[in-house]
Amino acid sequence: MNILVLNNGSSSLKFQLAALEDHSESILVSGVVERIGGEALVTIQIEDKTFKLTSPIRDTTQALNFVIKNIIQHQDLIAGFKGLGDIHGVGHRVVHGGERFKASVLIDKDILSALEDCIELAPLHNPANIKGIEAIQDILGPKIPQVAVFDTAFHATMPESAWLYALPYSSYRRHKIRRYGFHGTSYRYVSERYREVSRIRAEECNIIIFHLGNGCSACAIRGGESIDTSMGMTPTEGLVMGTRAGDLDPSVIEMIGTKEGMTFHEVQSLLNRNSGLLGISGITSDMRDLIAEVAEHQDRRAQLAIDIFAYRARKYLGAYIAAIGPVKAVIFSGGIGENSSLIREKIADGLEHMGLLFDKDANVKLDKAKEKLGKISKTGSPVEIYVIPTNEEIMIARDTLKLIQAQA
Ligand code: ADP
Repeated sequence: MNILVLNNGSSSLKFQLAALEDHSESILVSGVVERIGGEALVTIQIEDKTFKLTSPIRDTTQALNFVIKNIIQHQDLIAGFKGLGDIHGVGHRVVHGGERFKASVLIDKDILSALEDCIELAPLHNPANIKGIEAIQDILGPKIPQVAVFDTAFHATMPESAWLYALPYSSYRRHKIRRYGFHGTSYRYVSERYREVSRIRAEECNIIIFHLGNGCSACAIRGGESIDTSMGMTPTEGLVMGTRAGDLDPSVIEMIGTKEGMTFHEVQSLLNRNSGLLGISGITSDMRDLIAEVAEHQDRRAQLAIDIFAYRARKYLGAYIAAIGPVKAVIFSGGIGENSSLIREKIADGLEHMGLLFDKDANVKLDKAKEKLGKISKTGSPVEIYVIPTNEEIMIARDTLKLIQAQA
């Protein structure tokens, strides 16, 4: 079965067409539409061919129309793909599922209106996700099965002591203000992959995963289930990220607002878009560029951004070891976690007293390896350290297929 996977953000649309059979999974097409709302950049990858196009694209519907038209135009290049009728379902990454959604669901009218109820919790992300669902109904017809896969769902197992803020209880009761956590699809994929690699059962799976990409978070997993995670009601809380501050004294918000004459909304935007690695360095939100900046120009603030990033992650590592109890493994994932030996070393080296025997050579070797999955702790390390590449898209495709088959 061929499943179209969509990750629709406010100004970009990532897509993949995945073929899932009983014993095989493959990606037929993948790509991204960037800068929706203006002259968009479209990248489409089919097999080893990459097409780069530009086109004025106003909104999600136009972006999806453009993508699907191009897939059809190139269908001869896609082995075994016979056109539109050969797309059997669509899986959507939905950022916020609130308290209602604890697992992926087939979308119908009721689900769509429940997703609208979650907009308040994710005003930047959920509207784009909903537009994607409606656009697919228009383009592929109302009968095409669509599935919502939530970033928040994996964290539904967190105990109340981990998800409730120490605010007046009424703020939770009246407004559902609480910690939800994100990157759940990535954590589900990486933890399942770790279980496969280490041949353990879910009940034995006590691990800490760092998802370090543009957005960054950590997750404490006990018995295969999330018991805590660093992002909160929104993705702003927790680790230092590309452009997000992460944990912060809330009084800073009033101070910045008063001193800079900014509204709540503007301060919120500063915390999400102008802080983190970008804010500290004043140069870039991109870790690879920051590392290059330090290597080439010994830039002090670039170095500081890297140091603060790693220090915050290291603190969470200690906290989650305390939260979980005996830990089997610490796992790095996401663009930074999978590719930067430097950051991994700064986070996890020198923690022998906590059972982590970091293997510097194995760590550096992995940078050059084609397959990024590997162990970077020494033999006999009480806590294993791994790099495991994430694959949220294949998880979304699998959930979509499972729900379509269950319905049939
Ligand atoms: P997203 O969260 O948008 O999916 P990714 O998971 O692709 O992002 O991660 C992007 C981050 O990974 C960027 O900060 C990028 O610089 C970083 N990154 C990618 N490759 C490397 C590398 N070799 N060294 C350091 N950082 C890297």
